[in-house]
Amino acid sequence: MSSVENEGSPVYLGIDVGGTNIKIGIVDDAGHPLAHGKIATDHQRGAEDGVSRILAFAKSLLPQAGVTWEQIRAIGLGTPGTMNVKEGRTLHMPNMSGWDFFPIRSHLEAESGKPVMFLNDGNAAAFGEYWVGRGREYDSLIMITLGTGVGGGIIIQDEPVHGDHSHGSECGHIVIDTSPDARVCPCGQAGHLEAYVSATSVVLRVTERLEAGDSSSLKMKLDEAGEFSAVDIATHAEQGDALAREMIIETGEILGRGIVSMMHMIDPGIVVLGGGMNFGGMNSAIGRIFLETIRYMVRELTFPVLAEDTIIDFATLGSSCGFIGAAGAARKQFGKTS
Ligand SMILES: [Zn+2]
Repeated sequence: MSSVENEGSPVYLGIDVGGTNIKIGIVDDAGHPLAHGKIATDHQRGAEDGVSRILAFAKSLLPQAGVTWEQIRAIGLGTPGTMNVKEGRTLHMPNMSGWDFFPIRSHLEAESGKPVMFLNDGNAAAFGEYWVGRGREYDSLIMITLGTGVGGGIIIQDEPVHGDHSHGSECGHIVIDTSPDARVCPCGQAGHLEAYVSATSVVLRVTERLEAGDSSSLKMKLDEAGEFSAVDIATHAEQGDALAREMIIETGEILGRGIVSMMHMIDPGIVVLGGGMNFGGMNSAIGRIFLETIRYMVRELTFPVLAEDTIIDFATLGSSCGFIGAAGAARKQFGKTS
């Protein structure tokens, strides 16, 4: 889009902070990214340094986006870990302690001169899918992001669910196993969904089966390379490895049970699965089996109306959903005039 077309119309800056990278994009009023990119988080340099690098990078995107700094009406900022949304500060940030306990919203507002919408990264991603992604036709959405960990986001009629203590939407930490030998979650508590269905947890579950003596082509991969990934599990399942396939199906079943619990609390129009761990997604047979297993499990365990009408599908925005959603949440808070 040329600068002439964009002249005067409001745009939003979306920022998606992660442990490794910070994704930054300028997004127009209809949810299209005009320009975007990423910078290294380098958390040990601290949050103040991070904010100045974010703003310098955002300003470098302006020519490509064809907009002026004045046209940026507001900024949306999503961060991982725990936070206090009302006070606008981070609490504990996993793997990026350099940003712990920082008054990020007021600092970013002071440095940028723009109003800032601050939210959990899981809710930012969910808002992206809700606004212009797979969930755009629905009034409410749950998003589960499967990656190294399990992120969660809940949007109900334009509102991200922050909760009273900014710990709402933590879909990865619902309790799905109350047995004495339940797996322990990275958060320290036992039996949480993340301890079973994150990429890290799936690799661990498969490794335990290999160590217990199950035969699998992944055993050779483990012996040769010393490790394997969730992508390897999908590849080996595609190539006919029975254990890899069984574990992907089991992961779908566990996730399906968790999703039913969430559905019975919220009754969303759609449940969207995002993140890097999708076993190939719709482009692979095993990815489609994974999704169908989740859908089957949900249908078996839920009410007839929900079995019939609740959509469960993969996300569509990919790794852009976080900054697009952060920009969208800023637009909801500060931009929409109608
Ligand atoms: Zn947990």
